[in-house]
Amino acid sequence: MAKIAFIGLGNMGLPMAINLVKAGHEVNGFDLVPAAIEAAAKAGIKVMPSAAGSLAGAEIAITMLPNGKLVLGVYNDILKAAVPGTLFIDSSTIDVDSARKAHELAEKAGFAAVDAPVSGGVGGAAAGTLTFMAGGEDAAFARAKPVLEVMGKKIVHCGGAGAGQVAKICNNMILGISMIGVSEAFVLGEKLGLSAQALYDVASTSSGQCWSLTSYCPVPGPVPTSPSNNDYKPGFAAALMLKDLLLSQDAAASAGAATALGKHAAEIYQDYVDTGHAGVDFSGIINAIREK
Ligand code: NAD
Repeated sequence: MAKIAFIGLGNMGLPMAINLVKAGHEVNGFDLVPAAIEAAAKAGIKVMPSAAGSLAGAEIAITMLPNGKLVLGVYNDILKAAVPGTLFIDSSTIDVDSARKAHELAEKAGFAAVDAPVSGGVGGAAAGTLTFMAGGEDAAFARAKPVLEVMGKKIVHCGGAGAGQVAKICNNMILGISMIGVSEAFVLGEKLGLSAQALYDVASTSSGQCWSLTSYCPVPGPVPTSPSNNDYKPGFAAALMLKDLLLSQDAAASAGAATALGKHAAEIYQDYVDTGHAGVDFSGIINAIREK
Protein backbone atom coordinates (compact mmCIF):
# COMPACT_ATOMS: atom_id res chain seq x y z
CA MET A 1 0.00 0.00 0.00
CA ALA A 2 1.25 3.46 -0.86
CA LYS A 3 1.68 6.64 1.12
CA ILE A 4 -0.30 9.27 -0.77
CA ALA A 5 -0.53 13.08 -0.42
CA PHE A 6 -3.93 14.43 -1.53
CA ILE A 7 -4.29 18.19 -1.97
CA GLY A 8 -7.74 19.67 -2.64
CA LEU A 9 -10.42 17.84 -0.65
CA GLY A 10 -13.50 19.45 -2.21
CA ASN A 11 -16.59 17.94 -3.84
CA MET A 12 -14.48 15.64 -6.00
CA GLY A 13 -11.20 15.33 -4.07
CA LEU A 14 -12.70 14.21 -0.78
CA PRO A 15 -14.63 11.17 -2.10
CA MET A 16 -11.64 10.23 -4.27
CA ALA A 17 -9.31 10.38 -1.25
CA ILE A 18 -11.81 8.39 0.81
CA ASN A 19 -11.72 5.59 -1.78
CA LEU A 20 -7.92 5.51 -1.46
CA VAL A 21 -8.25 5.18 2.33
CA LYS A 22 -10.85 2.40 1.92
CA ALA A 23 -8.41 0.55 -0.36
CA GLY A 24 -5.86 0.60 2.45
CA HIS A 25 -3.59 3.44 1.31
CA GLU A 26 -2.20 5.89 3.85
CA VAL A 27 -3.54 9.30 2.80
CA ASN A 28 -2.15 12.60 4.07
CA GLY A 29 -4.53 15.36 2.99
CA PHE A 30 -4.59 19.13 2.81
CA ASP A 31 -7.21 21.74 1.94
CA LEU A 32 -7.63 25.43 2.75
CA VAL A 33 -11.27 25.15 3.87
CA PRO A 34 -12.02 24.10 7.48
CA ALA A 35 -15.19 22.17 6.50
CA ALA A 36 -13.23 20.07 4.00
CA ILE A 37 -10.51 19.40 6.58
CA GLU A 38 -13.07 18.32 9.16
CA ALA A 39 -14.86 15.96 6.77
CA ALA A 40 -11.53 14.49 5.67
CA ALA A 41 -10.39 13.84 9.22
CA LYS A 42 -13.67 12.06 9.99
CA ALA A 43 -13.12 9.82 6.95
CA GLY A 44 -9.71 8.58 8.10
CA ILE A 45 -7.53 10.98 6.11
CA LYS A 46 -4.57 12.31 8.09
CA VAL A 47 -4.95 16.07 7.72
CA MET A 48 -1.68 17.99 7.48
CA PRO A 49 -1.10 21.67 8.32
CA SER A 50 0.15 22.59 4.81
CA ALA A 51 0.31 21.27 1.25
CA ALA A 52 4.07 20.80 1.57
CA GLY A 53 3.58 19.03 4.91
CA SER A 54 1.37 16.41 3.26
CA LEU A 55 4.29 15.43 1.00
CA ALA A 56 6.41 14.06 3.87
CA GLY A 57 7.45 10.59 2.71
CA ALA A 58 4.70 10.44 0.05
CA GLU A 59 5.26 8.12 -2.90
CA ILE A 60 2.43 9.74 -4.81
CA ALA A 61 1.04 13.31 -4.72
CA ILE A 62 -2.45 13.92 -6.12
CA THR A 63 -3.92 17.39 -6.68
CA MET A 64 -7.65 18.09 -7.28
CA LEU A 65 -7.92 21.87 -7.50
CA PRO A 66 -10.14 24.46 -9.23
CA ASN A 67 -7.76 25.88 -11.85
CA GLY A 68 -4.32 25.91 -13.47
CA LYS A 69 -2.98 28.89 -11.57
CA LEU A 70 -3.66 27.15 -8.25
CA VAL A 71 -2.13 23.88 -9.48
CA LEU A 72 1.09 25.65 -10.53
CA GLY A 73 1.20 27.57 -7.23
CA VAL A 74 0.81 24.33 -5.26
CA TYR A 75 3.39 22.53 -7.46
CA ASN A 76 5.95 25.30 -6.80
CA ASP A 77 5.36 24.74 -3.11
CA ILE A 78 5.20 20.93 -2.88
CA LEU A 79 7.93 19.96 -5.36
CA LYS A 80 10.47 21.32 -2.87
CA ALA A 81 9.05 19.10 -0.14
CA ALA A 82 8.88 15.84 -2.11
CA VAL A 83 11.15 12.88 -1.45
CA PRO A 84 13.02 11.33 -4.42
CA GLY A 85 10.78 9.15 -6.57
CA THR A 86 7.45 10.84 -5.74
CA LEU A 87 4.99 10.60 -8.64
CA PHE A 88 2.82 13.70 -9.26
CA ILE A 89 -0.73 13.21 -10.51
CA ASP A 90 -2.92 16.24 -11.24
CA SER A 91 -6.59 15.30 -11.65
CA SER A 92 -7.93 18.88 -11.77
CA THR A 93 -9.50 20.10 -15.01
CA ILE A 94 -7.14 22.91 -16.07
CA ASP A 95 -5.90 24.69 -19.19
CA VAL A 96 -3.55 22.71 -21.39
CA ASP A 97 -0.71 25.26 -21.10
CA SER A 98 -0.73 25.06 -17.30
CA ALA A 99 -0.89 21.26 -17.45
CA ARG A 100 2.22 21.20 -19.63
CA LYS A 101 3.93 23.71 -17.30
CA ALA A 102 3.12 21.47 -14.33
CA HIS A 103 4.83 18.56 -16.12
CA GLU A 104 7.85 20.78 -16.85
CA LEU A 105 8.12 21.95 -13.25
CA ALA A 106 8.00 18.37 -12.00
CA GLU A 107 10.49 17.16 -14.58
CA LYS A 108 12.95 19.99 -13.83
CA ALA A 109 12.79 19.05 -10.15
CA GLY A 110 13.52 15.43 -11.09
CA PHE A 111 10.02 13.97 -10.71
CA ALA A 112 7.65 12.08 -13.00
CA ALA A 113 4.19 13.55 -13.58
CA VAL A 114 0.83 12.59 -15.06
CA ASP A 115 -2.12 14.83 -15.88
CA ALA A 116 -5.24 12.78 -15.21
CA PRO A 117 -8.47 14.80 -15.34
CA VAL A 118 -11.71 12.96 -14.78
CA SER A 119 -15.20 12.55 -16.09
CA GLY A 120 -18.05 11.17 -14.02
CA GLY A 121 -18.82 13.91 -11.52
CA VAL A 122 -19.33 13.72 -7.78
CA GLY A 123 -21.38 10.51 -8.08
CA GLY A 124 -18.59 8.80 -10.00
CA ALA A 125 -16.02 10.06 -7.49
CA ALA A 126 -17.99 8.59 -4.58
CA ALA A 127 -18.68 5.29 -6.37
CA GLY A 128 -15.08 4.94 -7.61
CA THR A 129 -16.31 4.78 -11.20
CA LEU A 130 -14.61 7.85 -12.71
CA THR A 131 -13.06 7.84 -16.16
CA PHE A 132 -9.47 9.10 -16.06
CA MET A 133 -7.87 10.63 -19.18
CA ALA A 134 -4.14 10.55 -18.61
CA GLY A 135 -1.17 12.30 -20.20
CA GLY A 136 2.48 11.58 -19.51
CA GLU A 137 5.33 9.20 -20.22
CA ASP A 138 4.62 5.45 -20.37
CA ALA A 139 6.56 4.68 -17.17
CA ALA A 140 4.78 7.42 -15.20
CA PHE A 141 1.40 6.26 -16.48
CA ALA A 142 2.21 2.64 -15.54
CA ARG A 143 2.92 3.78 -11.96
CA ALA A 144 -0.21 5.96 -11.79
CA LYS A 145 -2.61 3.38 -13.22
CA PRO A 146 -3.11 1.11 -10.16
CA VAL A 147 -3.86 4.14 -7.99
CA LEU A 148 -6.24 5.63 -10.55
CA GLU A 149 -7.98 2.24 -10.76
CA VAL A 150 -8.95 2.57 -7.10
CA MET A 151 -10.85 5.79 -7.93
CA GLY A 152 -12.08 4.99 -11.43
CA LYS A 153 -13.28 2.20 -13.67
CA LYS A 154 -11.85 3.36 -17.00
CA ILE A 155 -8.30 4.68 -17.31
CA VAL A 156 -7.18 5.86 -20.75
CA HIS A 157 -3.59 6.80 -21.56
CA CYS A 158 -4.13 9.59 -24.12
CA GLY A 159 -0.49 10.47 -24.91
CA GLY A 160 2.28 12.70 -23.59
CA ALA A 161 2.24 15.68 -21.22
CA GLY A 162 -1.14 17.49 -21.28
CA ALA A 163 -2.87 14.91 -23.51
CA GLY A 164 -5.33 14.03 -20.73
CA GLN A 165 -6.45 17.67 -20.49
CA VAL A 166 -6.72 17.91 -24.27
CA ALA A 167 -8.99 14.83 -24.34
CA LYS A 168 -11.09 16.21 -21.49
CA ILE A 169 -11.77 19.64 -23.05
CA CYS A 170 -12.36 18.17 -26.53
CA ASN A 171 -14.90 15.69 -25.09
CA ASN A 172 -16.66 18.39 -23.09
CA MET A 173 -16.75 20.73 -26.08
CA ILE A 174 -18.65 17.98 -27.97
CA LEU A 175 -20.94 17.63 -24.95
CA GLY A 176 -21.71 21.38 -24.66
CA ILE A 177 -22.40 21.71 -28.38
CA SER A 178 -24.51 18.54 -28.56
CA MET A 179 -26.63 19.52 -25.54
CA ILE A 180 -27.47 22.83 -27.20
CA GLY A 181 -28.23 21.03 -30.48
CA VAL A 182 -30.52 18.49 -28.81
CA SER A 183 -32.26 21.26 -26.83
CA GLU A 184 -32.85 23.36 -29.95
CA ALA A 185 -34.36 20.34 -31.70
CA PHE A 186 -36.79 19.64 -28.83
CA VAL A 187 -37.86 23.31 -28.69
CA LEU A 188 -38.33 23.44 -32.46
CA GLY A 189 -40.35 20.20 -32.33
CA GLU A 190 -42.51 21.58 -29.50
CA LYS A 191 -43.23 24.80 -31.39
CA LEU A 192 -44.26 22.74 -34.41
CA GLY A 193 -46.58 20.57 -32.32
CA LEU A 194 -44.40 17.43 -32.08
CA SER A 195 -44.41 15.58 -28.73
CA ALA A 196 -41.09 15.21 -26.95
CA GLN A 197 -41.59 11.45 -26.75
CA ALA A 198 -42.15 11.17 -30.52
CA LEU A 199 -38.98 13.14 -31.26
CA TYR A 200 -37.08 11.02 -28.73
CA ASP A 201 -38.35 7.75 -30.20
CA VAL A 202 -37.23 8.80 -33.68
CA ALA A 203 -33.94 10.60 -32.92
CA SER A 204 -32.71 8.05 -30.35
CA THR A 205 -32.75 5.36 -33.03
CA SER A 206 -31.75 7.60 -35.95
CA SER A 207 -28.76 9.66 -36.98
CA GLY A 208 -29.50 12.34 -34.36
CA GLN A 209 -28.61 9.85 -31.59
CA CYS A 210 -26.03 11.08 -29.05
CA TRP A 211 -25.30 10.98 -25.30
CA SER A 212 -27.00 14.34 -24.65
CA LEU A 213 -30.19 12.80 -26.04
CA THR A 214 -30.18 9.21 -24.84
CA SER A 215 -28.40 9.45 -21.45
CA TYR A 216 -29.09 13.02 -20.43
CA CYS A 217 -32.27 14.03 -22.26
CA PRO A 218 -32.99 17.75 -21.53
CA VAL A 219 -36.78 17.26 -21.48
CA PRO A 220 -38.39 15.30 -18.65
CA GLY A 221 -39.93 11.96 -19.51
CA PRO A 222 -38.01 9.95 -22.09
CA VAL A 223 -34.92 9.24 -19.90
CA PRO A 224 -36.07 8.91 -16.27
CA THR A 225 -32.56 9.27 -14.78
CA SER A 226 -31.75 12.58 -16.48
CA PRO A 227 -31.64 15.77 -14.31
CA SER A 228 -34.57 17.22 -16.32
CA ASN A 229 -36.79 14.90 -14.24
CA ASN A 230 -35.35 16.34 -11.04
CA ASP A 231 -35.90 20.05 -11.59
CA TYR A 232 -32.50 20.30 -13.35
CA LYS A 233 -30.54 19.72 -10.13
CA PRO A 234 -26.93 18.88 -11.10
CA GLY A 235 -25.58 16.47 -12.30
CA PHE A 236 -23.07 18.67 -14.00
CA ALA A 237 -23.61 22.33 -13.20
CA ALA A 238 -23.75 24.96 -15.95
CA ALA A 239 -20.81 26.80 -14.33
CA LEU A 240 -18.60 23.72 -14.78
CA MET A 241 -19.72 23.30 -18.39
CA LEU A 242 -18.87 26.96 -19.00
CA LYS A 243 -15.46 26.47 -17.36
CA ASP A 244 -14.64 23.57 -19.69
CA LEU A 245 -15.94 25.38 -22.81
CA LEU A 246 -13.79 28.42 -21.96
CA LEU A 247 -10.78 26.11 -21.50
CA SER A 248 -11.49 24.64 -24.95
CA GLN A 249 -11.60 28.15 -26.42
CA ASP A 250 -8.30 29.17 -24.76
CA ALA A 251 -6.72 26.02 -26.17
CA ALA A 252 -8.26 26.58 -29.63
CA ALA A 253 -6.87 30.13 -29.70
CA SER A 254 -3.38 29.01 -28.73
CA ALA A 255 -3.42 26.05 -31.17
CA GLY A 256 -4.98 28.06 -34.03
CA ALA A 257 -7.95 25.66 -34.33
CA ALA A 258 -11.28 26.85 -35.77
CA THR A 259 -14.04 25.94 -33.30
CA ALA A 260 -16.93 28.18 -34.31
CA LEU A 261 -19.57 26.02 -32.61
CA GLY A 262 -17.44 25.62 -29.48
CA LYS A 263 -17.14 29.43 -29.33
CA HIS A 264 -20.88 29.88 -29.76
CA ALA A 265 -21.62 27.21 -27.13
CA ALA A 266 -19.33 29.06 -24.68
CA GLU A 267 -21.24 32.31 -25.36
CA ILE A 268 -24.61 30.58 -24.82
CA TYR A 269 -23.48 29.03 -21.52
CA GLN A 270 -21.87 32.33 -20.43
CA ASP A 271 -25.24 34.02 -20.87
CA TYR A 272 -26.97 31.19 -18.98
CA VAL A 273 -24.53 31.44 -16.06
CA ASP A 274 -24.69 35.26 -16.02
CA THR A 275 -28.48 35.14 -15.72
CA GLY A 276 -28.38 33.25 -12.44
CA HIS A 277 -28.11 29.62 -13.57
CA ALA A 278 -24.54 28.75 -12.53
CA GLY A 279 -25.74 26.01 -10.17
CA VAL A 280 -28.41 24.58 -12.48
CA ASP A 281 -27.64 21.40 -14.42
CA PHE A 282 -26.23 22.25 -17.84
CA SER A 283 -29.17 20.51 -19.56
CA GLY A 284 -31.34 23.34 -18.17
CA ILE A 285 -30.08 25.32 -21.16
CA ILE A 286 -33.22 24.05 -22.93
CA ASN A 287 -35.33 26.37 -20.76
CA ALA A 288 -33.26 29.42 -21.79
CA ILE A 289 -33.59 28.39 -25.45
CA ARG A 290 -37.36 27.93 -25.07
CA GLU A 291 -37.70 31.42 -23.56
CA LYS A 292 -35.73 33.16 -26.32
P1 NAD B 1 -14.27 22.20 -5.25
O1 NAD B 1 -14.26 23.68 -5.34
O2 NAD B 1 -15.39 21.51 -4.53
O3 NAD B 1 -12.90 21.68 -4.58
C1 NAD B 1 -11.67 22.28 -4.77
C2 NAD B 1 -10.96 22.28 -3.43
O4 NAD B 1 -9.63 22.79 -3.61
C3 NAD B 1 -11.65 23.19 -2.40
O5 NAD B 1 -11.98 22.44 -1.24
C4 NAD B 1 -10.60 24.27 -2.11
O6 NAD B 1 -10.61 24.72 -0.78
C5 NAD B 1 -9.32 23.52 -2.44
N1 NAD B 1 -8.19 24.41 -2.68
C6 NAD B 1 -8.14 25.52 -3.46
N2 NAD B 1 -6.89 26.04 -3.44
C7 NAD B 1 -6.15 25.22 -2.66
C8 NAD B 1 -4.78 25.23 -2.25
N3 NAD B 1 -3.93 26.18 -2.65
N4 NAD B 1 -4.36 24.24 -1.44
C9 NAD B 1 -5.23 23.28 -1.01
N5 NAD B 1 -6.52 23.22 -1.35
C10 NAD B 1 -6.97 24.19 -2.17
O7 NAD B 1 -14.16 21.66 -6.75
P2 NAD B 1 -14.48 20.17 -7.29
O8 NAD B 1 -15.88 20.10 -7.77
O9 NAD B 1 -13.97 19.20 -6.30
O10 NAD B 1 -13.55 20.16 -8.59
C11 NAD B 1 -12.15 19.95 -8.52
C12 NAD B 1 -11.63 19.82 -9.94
O11 NAD B 1 -12.30 18.73 -10.59
C13 NAD B 1 -11.91 21.05 -10.81
O12 NAD B 1 -10.80 21.29 -11.61
C14 NAD B 1 -13.15 20.65 -11.61
O13 NAD B 1 -13.24 21.32 -12.85
C15 NAD B 1 -12.89 19.16 -11.81
N6 NAD B 1 -14.11 18.37 -12.04
C16 NAD B 1 -15.23 18.56 -11.30
C17 NAD B 1 -16.35 17.79 -11.54
C18 NAD B 1 -17.61 17.97 -10.72
O14 NAD B 1 -18.65 17.43 -11.12
N7 NAD B 1 -17.56 18.67 -9.60
C19 NAD B 1 -16.34 16.82 -12.56
C20 NAD B 1 -15.16 16.61 -13.28
C21 NAD B 1 -14.05 17.40 -13.02
